Amino acid sequence: MFRSTAIFFAAVLLFACQNGSASKPPVAATPAADNSQADKSQKTTPFEAERAFAHVKAQVEFGPRPAGSAAIEKTREYLVKELKSYGLTPVLDEFTETTPRGKVKFKNVIAEIPGETPGTIIISSHYDTKEFKEFKFVGANDGGSSTGILLELARVMAADKQKRKFTYQFIFFDGEEAFCAEWSQCLNGKDNTYGSRHHVAKLKKEKQTDRVKAMILLDMVGDKDLTIPREETSSAWLVSAIWGTAQELGHRKQFPNRPFSIGDDDHMPFLRAGIPAVDVIDFEYGDGPEDNSYWHTAEDTLDKISSQSLKIVGDVILLSLPKIEAQIR
Ligand SMILES: [Zn+2]
Repeated sequence: MFRSTAIFFAAVLLFACQNGSASKPPVAATPAADNSQADKSQKTTPFEAERAFAHVKAQVEFGPRPAGSAAIEKTREYLVKELKSYGLTPVLDEFTETTPRGKVKFKNVIAEIPGETPGTIIISSHYDTKEFKEFKFVGANDGGSSTGILLELARVMAADKQKRKFTYQFIFFDGEEAFCAEWSQCLNGKDNTYGSRHHVAKLKKEKQTDRVKAMILLDMVGDKDLTIPREETSSAWLVSAIWGTAQELGHRKQFPNRPFSIGDDDHMPFLRAGIPAVDVIDFEYGDGPEDNSYWHTAEDTLDKISSQSLKIVGDVILLSLPKIEAQIR
């Protein structure tokens, strides 16, 4: 995922100034409020925190996993093996793109649970990690966390044999990260989101964009100090469904109601194609609130990840789906 720290905090400040904290106070839920809300719902799901965490650990143990590397191939084999063990039939969508490193082969991994209609809801993550020559970047949070959650979501939903109206696709995007140091530094800004751009181009070519009713993107969602504000480039109805569910479950602290804008990520090619999409992203990945000093550094390691955070995100997504489905005509 992208964003320069400077732009990020300038934007946050600008937004705060424009909106005025008097009219929209930041929501700081007290623990008491959280508990009472949780007591009201007490909704649980079969999402297993420890399974999701084990997936993050396995990815970290493969080491740095940039697109085209031997380690991402191992990661892909792991994803495929897991998905097959859930009774799914993952498909590898392979494509080659010119990058600042020359021609690189990418593979999106797609697993599908067919519904009664072709109308499709995509849940997604990128599984590559950003390449750094200067240090070992293992991407526990950035790449690892969302991919671990996505695997566990696929397991839970595949095991649930209820008839589904909508078809679900779990898409693991390759090549989200830029090869160049900065997101938009190379290839006229196109040195990033290779997998998601490829997928949307394919949908367009096959005249299938109308089939996709919603796209949910998870990115950097395993931080112990989980803070996922409402992402403002995302489709408002999807944001309402997900953040509304989080609040009903008592996770207002982790899904605060304040706005945030990421700028660019794998959801953007979908939005640009007119497909509703939402980015569930915790960009405050560092030492305390509004600090992202672990992002794209050697600090993005497994000790920063909490299985409880993975479970919160997994539960919120699972329990948001009925709300999302109800709003699709
Ligand atoms: Zn990243």
